[in-house]
Amino acid sequence: MGLKEECGVFGIFDIDEASVLTTLGLHALQHRGQEGAGIVSYDGDTFHAVKKEGLVSDNFNNASTLDKLPGRRAIGHVRYSTTGDSKLANVQPLFANLSAGGFACAHNGNLTNTRELRRALVNTGSIFQTTSDTEIILQLVARSKKSKTIDKIKDALSQIEGAYSLIIMTNKKLIGIKDPFGIRPLVLGKKNNAYVLASETCALDMIGANYVRDVENGEMVIITDSGIESIKLAPNHYERPCIFERIYFARPDSIIDGQSVYTYRKNLGDQLAREHHVVADVVVPVPDSGAPAAIGYSQASGIPFELGIIRNHYVGRTFIEPSQSIRQFGVKLKHSVNQSSIKNKRVILIDDSIVRGTTANKVVKMMFEAGAKEVHFGISSPPIKHPDFYGIDTPQYSELIAANHNIEEITNIIGATSVFFLSLEGTYKAMGIEKRDAKNPQFTDHCFTGDYPINVSGILAQNHALTN
Ligand code: AMP
Repeated sequence: MGLKEECGVFGIFDIDEASVLTTLGLHALQHRGQEGAGIVSYDGDTFHAVKKEGLVSDNFNNASTLDKLPGRRAIGHVRYSTTGDSKLANVQPLFANLSAGGFACAHNGNLTNTRELRRALVNTGSIFQTTSDTEIILQLVARSKKSKTIDKIKDALSQIEGAYSLIIMTNKKLIGIKDPFGIRPLVLGKKNNAYVLASETCALDMIGANYVRDVENGEMVIITDSGIESIKLAPNHYERPCIFERIYFARPDSIIDGQSVYTYRKNLGDQLAREHHVVADVVVPVPDSGAPAAIGYSQASGIPFELGIIRNHYVGRTFIEPSQSIRQFGVKLKHSVNQSSIKNKRVILIDDSIVRGTTANKVVKMMFEAGAKEVHFGISSPPIKHPDFYGIDTPQYSELIAANHNIEEITNIIGATSVFFLSLEGTYKAMGIEKRDAKNPQFTDHCFTGDYPINVSGILAQNHALTN
């Protein structure tokens, strides 16, 4: 399986202390990737780079590091990889000195035709320093025969397929690009006169920047000393953003398409209560990501909301650890039971999703051990039956519990009294969309439907091969 990444990107053009603001922006995007962080700044003459494994707050919180990143322009990246390639060389932004000057690139998403491209590039003499698909973009730009940088980038983009939200910095420009389907997010903001690009609006809020608009699918925005320009690379392409950003991945205080992620998640819980009426005493969220949906479920059902599980905040996201052994250990360290709100109660646990079933298994057990009479497990999204190849980490088919088991089996495996999922229609309704358009779906929702917007047949064949 190729490298898969979850990431956050940030860039700012022409402001004092650009790298300090980038550090703050990356800190707000830390939930998007926790294994490595990097910043490249430009001081009008020279590019400077610092890349570290680990958290932003552990690595960029001191003057001695930030002093190495002078200038009024900077871009940054937080990264998470799943395939063991979590070494420093893969930490972004990637940087190269091209014929026209320095070129720094930060990428969120996953390309789907990397094998073919990499093979072709290597066969014709390219030397790769990393295993990251982003380096392919760099190589394609470097080798383009076009003379202008923008045309070189366009040339590279015409050869890549997959999901990409990119922030590029050259000695003259800050550039933001979204793939034709707009799968991964990218927003444009402004702090005083300085333009900002970021994966989510929470990064704009962090630095006191105003939200201007979302970068559109298939759009390239080019920021220079003379202002901002937009080029539509895929003019008539329809947008299909990733639905999982709203369900789980984005931060609840971010705004997507005019609505807070928190509201979408509450709506998901509300829909779940409408679809599944369960007689119970308390609604308990699986912290933290299940909380908004649990509030929605509680409000719609009238069943009181209680914090029955307490999260230890000094452990990262369960999933975010690359190896299964560490992941299981992480789950154990992460949650403990609040017995007083559970004992002798009929409990409805609410989480946003079940992937492998590791978390569900553990929290259900916890509830019974604490004296719960019944434990119903409600999930505020449909069963995840298909892996992702566009930048959200989900495992291969063999590890996805819902790809291999029906609801009755899942109920037995996790040991719950009952298990219930939100329907796909209910999920769309929670997003304010009455009906999924089967021909041109409004979202990238293949995790639930198997409807992959970009050809992944090569990767799927590999994925199935790994399963067997
Ligand atoms: P699992 O324990 O394998 O069933 O994973 C489900 C839990 O992980 C839920 O609590 C989700 O909130 C969370 N989750 C779902 N998808 C992801 C993801 N792509 N990365 C990290 N965590 C996730």
